[in-house]
This record gives sequence, structure tokens and C-alpha cells, in this order.
Amino acid sequence: MDIAERLEKRFMRYAGVASQSDAGSSSLPSTPGQAELARTLYEELRGLGVSDVELDGNGIVTAVLPGLPDRPKLGFVAHLDTVDVGLSPTVRARKIRYEGQDILLNEEEGIYFDKAAHPEIERYRGDDILFSDGTSVLGADNKAAISAVMCAIEGVLEEGVPHGDLYVAFVPDEEIGLKGAKRLDLGRFSPDYAYTIDCCELGEVVYETFNAGTAFIEIEGVTAHPMSAKGVLVNPILVAQDLIALFDRLETPERTEGKEGYVWFNRISGGQSAVSLQASIRDHDLAGYDDKKRRLREAVEEIGRRYPKARASVRIEDVYANIANHADRSHPAVAAIYGAMAELGIEPRTVAMRGGTDGSALSARGLVTPNYFTGAHLFHSRFEFLPMRSFVASYRLTRRLIENAGRAPAGAPIAPRA
Ligand SMILES: [Zn+2]
Repeated sequence: MDIAERLEKRFMRYAGVASQSDAGSSSLPSTPGQAELARTLYEELRGLGVSDVELDGNGIVTAVLPGLPDRPKLGFVAHLDTVDVGLSPTVRARKIRYEGQDILLNEEEGIYFDKAAHPEIERYRGDDILFSDGTSVLGADNKAAISAVMCAIEGVLEEGVPHGDLYVAFVPDEEIGLKGAKRLDLGRFSPDYAYTIDCCELGEVVYETFNAGTAFIEIEGVTAHPMSAKGVLVNPILVAQDLIALFDRLETPERTEGKEGYVWFNRISGGQSAVSLQASIRDHDLAGYDDKKRRLREAVEEIGRRYPKARASVRIEDVYANIANHADRSHPAVAAIYGAMAELGIEPRTVAMRGGTDGSALSARGLVTPNYFTGAHLFHSRFEFLPMRSFVASYRLTRRLIENAGRAPAGAPIAPRA
């Protein structure tokens, strides 16, 4: 079996386990399908001859492969869940060679891939491409990554490739708040730095993400019967309205792009006596992020001064952090990606992501974790597709990172910068 066949076979097997996450569940993993996939991977890793494999009660699989001393210790992280966007949880993946034809995904339901709406498909004319049957996502996000990591571990062991210590983690519930990565035991998963393989097309590298936080604002008013309300009643709904009005309407998700940050008021509930408000704070720039947090606190204080009889308070939780707060392009984890891509002839496409990855959660916890591509397109949609050529390139990059770290001379600077 060549590597494309091995990747495809693994992918089909993992795609066959329905593992959507469920934002409405508070357990970890949020769904039994993820636990089933975790169990499968646990067994398969043991089957490959990896002796140190663990599956914890949160559905997190970790494996440690001891290697040569004095080499960079690498980690690889992929997520078990596929996103629930209201499509079928069951994935029936198929491989179609694209020769410019209309792509029929589902004969029964008459679902076609719309070439005109997604012209990037033309780049893959003549290629084998994996699609769903149009009733679900494909789930290359993130089972392509799981397959690439598993095939890389398999290949390294089979071929006796020299390597440093290798760490693998498969985590649940990335799509519903990076929950698995936040619970990953960094005492056990303890490489010098790690990689997520997630998102997007051939060549993409992400080491810049948002700094992200959530502000929880509570406003308590004063209730009164309207017949005797004058000078007494304090309406928390109007107080909340005044608070929101203190923020710039141009600094919202719908009015920003690139590296512009925002404050997004996105939840409100309450009544006569109290109102709860939530806002998401996002900024690539750490100083800009801190400034937005400061302005939220000041706004709440200002509201307190305007309405001395009301009670307003805010609690801000950091959710994840920009990987680049701790690692620029010269950081060994990031530089190794570009170095390996140059060796493999893969053109890099560096993206500052307007979101976060599991690596953003891990970087916030002190483990620098940049991201590179799976090769897939149109994530989170029924038209998600994965060209085999890009899938193989993602695998080769994974292998090359392991091989290069295995070759690194002893004493090379490997320590992540503070
Ligand atoms: Zn993903």
C-alpha cells in the first residue's frame, strides 16, 4: 500500500465513526461517538507497538514515544470531534476524480458540488478528491489530521526512523470551545513544543491567532410599581443599553477584518430586576486586547457612577491567547515548519487567523503550538473536500518535522522562549 492508500484507508475508518460534538452537553467528551473514536485510536496506537498510551475519563488519548536524547521533543495534537452545523452526523465519504465535470455527491437527493460557487476546485483538476455524500460535513476537520499523525507514527516505527521524544494527543470538543485542549494534562503531554494540524488548504501556516476573552456583566436595577416609580425605579435594561452604547460601533465583528480586534456583545438576558450581558473580546495584539478589557471594566465603573442605585459588575475570563505572544517566526517550532516546507517544495501561505485553535489554548498554557494545514477546503459545510495530493503533503510535512527533529544536533537551541 502506498502512503495515499494508507491515509485514505485510515480516513475512511475514522470518518465512519460519527463524532459530532454537542454544544448543549456539559460532559467531556460531549458525545459518545468521540469516546468511541478515542477508544479506537487508543487500541490502534497500542497495535502499532506504542507501549505508553493512555485514554483518560475525558476522552483524551495521549501517547508518548521515547526517542533519542538531546533532540527536540515534538508533540502533535488533533481533535476528535466534527462540527455540528445541523447536517447529518453520519459521514459517508467517497473519493471522486475531478476532471472538470459536474460533481454529483448524492444521486438520491440530487446534491451536486457547485463548481461555480467554489472555483478553487479547479486547482485540483485531475486529482482524486474526498467528499461527503452531501448530507454531512466530510470531517477532514479534523480526521485528516488524525490520519496523518497515525500514519506518521506507523511509518516512523516501521522504518526505524531516528526521532526525539514524540508526544501525541487526540482531544475532544475543539469545535465547542477548545475544551479538550484546555483539559489536556501538560504534565504527561510535555514536549518542547507542539503542532496542531487543522484547517485549510495546502501550505497554510497559522502562528497568529486572536487573544480571546469573555466578559460576563451583571446589572442589578431597582424594581418598583410604575404608579410609584418616579425617582425610584432603575431599569437594568436601559442601564445595559447605555453600557453597550459606550462602545464603538465600528469595533464589531461585522465592521472589522485582518488584524482589527473587536468587542462583540452577543448575549443578553434579564428582566425588571436584573440583566446579564456577555461580550466576546478579540484582538491579535496583546496590548490591544488588554486595552479592550480595561475599557470594559471602565465602562462598568462609568455605569455605576451614572446609576448609583444600580449595581454593575464585570468578570472577564481569558479563553485563549495568540500563539505569537510567545513565538514569532524565528521560534524553533515555527521556523521548523517553514524549513520543512521549503525542503518539500510546499509554498507557505501564512495566515493570521481571526479565531483560535487548540494551539491557542495550549500556547496560553505555556506550550507553544503553531498550526499547519490538513489540505481541506470549505470546512463546516456539506461541500467540505480534501484533495488527496494535499492530504499526502500534510502527512509528508508531519513526517519531515519528526525526521528533522531526530537529526538535530545535540545542544541545538530548543527551549521555547519565555
Ligand atoms: Zn478543526
